[in-house]
Amino acid sequence: MITILYNNVPFDTRLTTAWGFASLVEYGDQVVLFDTGGDGQILLDNMEVLSVDPGRIQSVVLSHAHSDHTGGLATLLRVTSQPPVYLTSSFGHSYIEKARQRTTVIEVTPGQAIAENMLSTGELSGGVPEQALVMRTSKGLVIMTGCAHPGIVQIVEKAIELTGEPVHLVLGGFHLGDKRKAEIAAIVADFRRLGVQRVAPSHCTGDRAIAMFEDEYGDDFLPSGAGSVIIIED
Ligand SMILES: [Zn+2]
Ligand SMILES: [Zn+2]
Repeated sequence: MITILYNNVPFDTRLTTAWGFASLVEYGDQVVLFDTGGDGQILLDNMEVLSVDPGRIQSVVLSHAHSDHTGGLATLLRVTSQPPVYLTSSFGHSYIEKARQRTTVIEVTPGQAIAENMLSTGELSGGVPEQALVMRTSKGLVIMTGCAHPGIVQIVEKAIELTGEPVHLVLGGFHLGDKRKAEIAAIVADFRRLGVQRVAPSHCTGDRAIAMFEDEYGDDFLPSGAGSVIIIED
């Protein structure tokens, strides 16, 4: 089960929307937080509305070093039992050393295991270096991105390359807000070429790209924003 805890795209109106992304992944007996949003108090408030106990979080994955994804970390670490944080080396020495004073920090490599059936793409370059989270399910891969700065298609290709498995769902920020219509159409076509079955774009994807994915995917487009819950049935 995936619960979007923090997003600028509204969904469940009880939650506060703000620019950024955070998502809770509950899979098997694992509980992983992917990104922390920009503001720790908003993150905690949204968790409370959804009755999510932050103490249950077993690990935290930070996609990339932008504050709309990392801003909630310090607040979160104050109220949890210091779960290990998986980040990439591009966060830089001083950030990593500071985080190490508070908890265990793991710099990921491609295919790094985060939990059972959950792995990292490792750091992808291009624009801002970034990692994505990949879950292996009986339906295929579920790929979660923060901002997809290295390119959403490159991220999907990397997940396929690492696992050799088909892609069930891609969700998160696709970073297409500044793209022209023809460029977005090419990316949507790439998703089909790569066999992506379902999509749930939000955050920095941009309204136009979200609408174009919805047009193409129909029922396989999952509306997502702050408070949406996506259940991957086995
Ligand atoms: Zn970013
Ligand atoms: Zn972002």
